[in-house]
Amino acid sequence: MFFLDMLEIDRVVRQLKSMYGSIDESLRGWNWSNEILSPPINGIYLGVSELTNRYCSTYRDIYLKRVLSKPAPYSYKTIRGWIYHRVCKKVVEKAKSILYLEGIVNGPKLYSSLLIDRSDEISRILEEYKVSSYLRENEVQKLKREAEVLYGFLALQAAARLDRVLSHLARPELESIISKVIPVDVERIVNGQLLGLSSELRIDMFADKRIVIEIKTGEIRDFHKYTITGYALAVESDLDIPIDYGIVSYILISRENVKIRNKIYFIGDELRREFLEIRDEAFNIIQRGIDPGKPPECPEYCIYYGACS
Ligand code: SF4
Repeated sequence: MFFLDMLEIDRVVRQLKSMYGSIDESLRGWNWSNEILSPPINGIYLGVSELTNRYCSTYRDIYLKRVLSKPAPYSYKTIRGWIYHRVCKKVVEKAKSILYLEGIVNGPKLYSSLLIDRSDEISRILEEYKVSSYLRENEVQKLKREAEVLYGFLALQAAARLDRVLSHLARPELESIISKVIPVDVERIVNGQLLGLSSELRIDMFADKRIVIEIKTGEIRDFHKYTITGYALAVESDLDIPIDYGIVSYILISRENVKIRNKIYFIGDELRREFLEIRDEAFNIIQRGIDPGKPPECPEYCIYYGACS
């Protein structure tokens, strides 16, 4: 994505490589049939976010959703997450299609072409997600404004990156320009069933076929590192590609400014084991079918907060 500087990421990845060793082969996703990786129950497949958004230490969220079939209510934050993700995807798609249609243009031209129908694009996205049926009118307007700010920010980043790429190439060729401006696959789908995960896991971004990237639109939480770990294992099991690194990219919009914070992780043995413990405990909860009860304190940011009785 435009806000990821792959040179900077390469530098951090090299640092991480020198700090951490290799990864135990038995913890690679392609060894899905061994005792550690194979899922405890066959025929049940869980989402990576569902497992790893560990707001609830007793796993009551899993019990409510999977045993009582009671989904979490949609909050403003949930819907904001959908819309921000969709906006990111839309700008990437549009930037690519403008470059394919118009050929090698410069940054300002790309920027103006991206912005021409920004407002209509955002309205279409809000309609696609039926946002007005979940939110009050003032919340819809707030979200619309945020989505426009994010769209404009990404368009500017794309234009700046295009100019930077063009400035380094003596003989620019369209395909190589596009791959340098947009060095990621967006919403890559992988099948995680061999590990007890969903068959259509959507990875927000996949860079250079070796780094999984998750976009988050809320506060920084330590458990987000398990989301990229789950995706890394799923890619390894589905595509036989080793994934050693992941990035959690936080997008925050405040007073019309977009702030991006990237956290890069080495997906080593410890993270892999911890993710598998979370997965196995979730399966335990489903298999037992008994209410695990509430933790001593429920965090207000839990998706079930206020709807957990
Ligand atoms: S409200 Fe409390 S008990 Fe219910 S899912 Fe959230 S953290 Fe768990």
